[in-house]
Amino acid sequence: MTALPLLPANFGADPDLLEAADRLLAGAQGPRDIRYVKTLRISVTDHCNFRCVYCMPDEGVDWLPKDEILTYEEIVEIARTAIGHGICDFKLTGGEPLLRKDLGTLARMLRGLPGCGEISLTSNGLLLDRFADELCEAGVARVTVSMDTLKPELFREITRRGDLAQVWRGIRAAEAAGMGPVKINVVVMRGYNVDEIVDFAEMTLTQPRTVRFIEFMPLARSMIEEAEHFVPYAEIRARIESRFGALQPAQQDTGTGPARTFRLRDALGKIGFIHAMSAPFCSTCNRLRLTADGQLRSCLFDGGEIDLRPLLRPTAQRAELRQAFLDCVVLKPDAHKHYGTRQMSQIGG
Ligand code: SF4
Repeated sequence: MTALPLLPANFGADPDLLEAADRLLAGAQGPRDIRYVKTLRISVTDHCNFRCVYCMPDEGVDWLPKDEILTYEEIVEIARTAIGHGICDFKLTGGEPLLRKDLGTLARMLRGLPGCGEISLTSNGLLLDRFADELCEAGVARVTVSMDTLKPELFREITRRGDLAQVWRGIRAAEAAGMGPVKINVVVMRGYNVDEIVDFAEMTLTQPRTVRFIEFMPLARSMIEEAEHFVPYAEIRARIESRFGALQPAQQDTGTGPARTFRLRDALGKIGFIHAMSAPFCSTCNRLRLTADGQLRSCLFDGGEIDLRPLLRPTAQRAELRQAFLDCVVLKPDAHKHYGTRQMSQIGG
């Protein structure tokens, strides 16, 4: 059955109805005739201070021209439209979002929109200790940090320039500021970090963080081969359970998106899995993406994108913007089949 999109506007902004829609989605099996979108991931820049091997080349990156990047005022206009559809949660991402000047200003502008829900941030963590207090004060509630290894040298190899100790300082600063528990995203890659799966899992025994294991995805322009490095969810889970015993289902964190969440026995933290490849969750995906240059995307991989810039420049055309969200949800695939032509930093992975 082809999904027949139903935006949350159909539920109104009534929190009880939205909660009922959440429950409906949680129990859904396979393609349905309902599509409930609640989160907009906003990429504020395609620039990054890392060059992760699976994301972009070391040199010669095709950065977006500056005048194509949305201004904060344009982003806020889009967010206002999203809220009108009941899409009230916003995740700020990049590239590396902390490279965008005055990100706290954008968070405050979003926070000021009537109906704005949760604002969260996905970061590589390198600059987080500098901005954590300001972002928290500006209304950013939660942070997700990417960290694929606990070994400093391997971290530098994967990111081609990262400083693991500095990222840890950022995580602690975010927690001290009140944006904990921090989620840590680990892309599992054979030949790099398979032997550290249990170490990351062990961290959740004593730390109230959520570690989320992500299957390696073959995005266009990745610098490493998917077939060689892919580790399926079943293997990741088996490695954890053979060491620590059976995982127990845990309550989803807010804004968990596609992750399935578990807990080790007596653990303070949680373990999540994002298995976009071996067990796609497209039919329950509840997010849209806005690229830094104003493309509203239905999917990280597949589906289509709608260029919002002509609807914003020279002035915002509110009716057309509103329609663009409806059109974009129609493009959401029941199952992704392609991997697009953009590199991940341009989409806001
Ligand atoms: S994966 Fe994230 S941190 Fe790494 S280069 Fe891409 S945008 Fe930067």
